[in-house]
Amino acid sequence: MRRKAQQALSRKTKFSNNWKKAKARVQLHHAHIGNVRKDFLLQATTTINQNRVIVCIKDLKLWAMSKSVAGDAEQLGRHERAKSGLNKVILDQGWFEFRRQLDYKLAWRGGHLITVPPHHISQTCPACGHVSKLNRQMQARFCCVECSFEENADLVGAMNVLHHGEAVLEQGQDIAS
Ligand SMILES: [Zn+2]
Repeated sequence: MRRKAQQALSRKTKFSNNWKKAKARVQLHHAHIGNVRKDFLLQATTTINQNRVIVCIKDLKLWAMSKSVAGDAEQLGRHERAKSGLNKVILDQGWFEFRRQLDYKLAWRGGHLITVPPHHISQTCPACGHVSKLNRQMQARFCCVECSFEENADLVGAMNVLHHGEAVLEQGQDIAS
């Protein structure tokens, strides 16, 4: 739908009446996509918040990444431009907003959002603790080369995040962030 509207727009003479109509249609699609995303984020963060007082997430340092590109555009080197592209992807996908909403909703209800470092989360065996890239030879499946523990890779990632989060809690570290 969106592509169709954009193609229609590109065929029109710029600033003609038909061009304006086509442009309005493209903008409508953009607004619709934005609304769907907003609804999803609100629902998802509310649902998670109602079911869990403590939520652990993998810390991708979204705040740091977004802040690092705030400087003058002319000063940005190639690395920074790449980062800027990455930021755009992350922000487009709504993870940044997802985390922000979850954070304040949990805080509002006296809960906690715990962030854990992302290192080795997807490569660590939740059964024996063995860390190896070889544990993830397939994208969707986790198979421990040490103890043969096998499970869905996303589930393993979630188990490891929770495990790390519990450790953070036990150590009594700052859990407000
Ligand atoms: Zn194992």
